[in-house]
Amino acid sequence: MGKWSKNVKIIYMSKESDYLKRAIKGLNGRGYKAYKALEGEYGFPWYRLSIDHVQGDPFASPSRFTLIIPIEKTGLPKVFFANKWRIIALCDFLARIFKENTEKFSHRCGTGHSCQIYIEAGKQEILERNSVVLHKNILEVRFFMGLPAHGRSILAHAAEEIIFHHIPKITEKSLIYKNLNEKQLEEHIYSYEDQEILRQRLSELNLVAFVREGAILPRKSGIEDTPLKNAIPFICPKELKIETELPYKGKISGMGIPVGVTLIVGGGFHGKSTLLQAIERGVYSHIPGDGREYVVTDPRAIKIRAEDGRSVVRVDISPFINNLPLEKNTYAFFTENASGSTSQAANIIEFIEIGAKTLLIDEDTSATNFMIRDKRMQSLVKKQKEPIFPFIDKVRQLYADFGVSTILVMGGCGDYFDVADTVIMMDVYRPYVVTEDARVVARKYNTGRINEGGEKFGNIIPRRPLPESFNPRRGGKIKIEAKGLKTIIFGYQAIDLSALEQLLDIGQTRAIGHAINYYATNHLKNSHSLKEGLDKTMADIEKYGLDIVLPYRVGNLVRPRIEELAGAINRLRSLKV
Ligand code: ADP
Ligand code: MG
Repeated sequence: MGKWSKNVKIIYMSKESDYLKRAIKGLNGRGYKAYKALEGEYGFPWYRLSIDHVQGDPFASPSRFTLIIPIEKTGLPKVFFANKWRIIALCDFLARIFKENTEKFSHRCGTGHSCQIYIEAGKQEILERNSVVLHKNILEVRFFMGLPAHGRSILAHAAEEIIFHHIPKITEKSLIYKNLNEKQLEEHIYSYEDQEILRQRLSELNLVAFVREGAILPRKSGIEDTPLKNAIPFICPKELKIETELPYKGKISGMGIPVGVTLIVGGGFHGKSTLLQAIERGVYSHIPGDGREYVVTDPRAIKIRAEDGRSVVRVDISPFINNLPLEKNTYAFFTENASGSTSQAANIIEFIEIGAKTLLIDEDTSATNFMIRDKRMQSLVKKQKEPIFPFIDKVRQLYADFGVSTILVMGGCGDYFDVADTVIMMDVYRPYVVTEDARVVARKYNTGRINEGGEKFGNIIPRRPLPESFNPRRGGKIKIEAKGLKTIIFGYQAIDLSALEQLLDIGQTRAIGHAINYYATNHLKNSHSLKEGLDKTMADIEKYGLDIVLPYRVGNLVRPRIEELAGAINRLRSLKV
């Protein structure tokens, strides 16, 4: 944020709220554009209100406002913002309450978006977002509002009502400590902090994931992320039981999934994918009551899937694929239209290239020929005719050579027993450790497969994007926006992120779009590799806050992970390396 404030081009003269009131009255009945004159900052009794940007007409995206409040005016105790984690959780909480109150205390009026107040706030996860930020003891709340109009003429009375009655009321109810539910706030903050501590502790414990005893993993439906009612709570198998102590919650126990290769097996519909999905989401911390609190995963874990049709730009996929027909080069594999297996190979290599340490794979979304080649197929189709070195022959090397662990859901192929360190069986939603049984079975029924993986995994070659890959302009103007959760509009291009299954919030999608531009402008030329440039970009976001990626203030960004940021760049069809 320090850097951001330097970028502000216009420094408004600060005025008092009486001035604003008179100005609004004077605009009554005038054309909508006259609202522009209100842009600026105004002093109210205990906060300042900044009208950052006025929309062009009543139907355009709503105007942007910021409340600026010295934190001591809220009465919030210092312990609640004593460290970075608490600040994130506190801001997340305040955004949620502010949103609740906008729904309670604002009424629609006039035409278009008139009188609608809107703030970005979280759902089941607690995320770092910039709708509410606390920086150097100043709390900023950024929200959107449709300035009221009838047709296209200004409704001064309604504007006055909302700015001088509704917003002060919402502000008071949402940001003054004595009006908040203290227990709920405390729980929100400390539960978040505990989950972050637990996630950090995973590596000390040699774990890639932890699933709390009693957690509720399944969701209401494929489109609803709230917990399923009457679900069977998670029961931890004794062989993998881990106990640890957290500062706020105290003792906690659950299933620890160790580093290495873990197989989740079991009959269809017994809860395998549900467990894996909870682990995927465990890179984020959950709100109290979600059911997945304290289900935490290595923050660098990435869900890998097949993604036919994607573009791949000069990725060395030779560890998995070689000798493609027509001598297509797989040392610097390039395609506008990958197959299931080549896309899955590229996905893995690209994420290892930027330092991901845990792969999460579900048979449901994998290419079969990438995962396995059994004895019969090996006999019928000779190795010289099969370009793919299947994952089963590479998964152990990934761990041995790069320390990359894998959690794999596999109900359909027992050949994987030979390569697993840990085998978990889901049986009516309950996990059992069956590693020993799987070994016995593996000895009894030899698969007869020939290992095709060779001695070593192979090289991961760092790539460096060329500057001309990135053009965010459309007709001279910068055009970067999210079109739904899974698409970024970047200049003339649309980037398809639908295969990045851990992308969670459209605010991350927006932030990724801007972060690509930030990276291309600031860290591309001075870095030797994509990884180095993105590490620097993420370090800037860590240091200066999310606002750094944009030259002006808009509270609709959520911090993305480096995995999804890299994933977006790798899917940019104009990428050149
Ligand atoms: P699999 O991958 O083993 O085929 P899924 O994980 O897709 O199975 O789960 C099948 C169904 O069971 C889903 O509808 C899911 O919501 C439900 N389910 C999963 N876990 C539980 C649980 N603990 N309690 C109740 N229902 C569950
Ligand atoms: Mg499944």
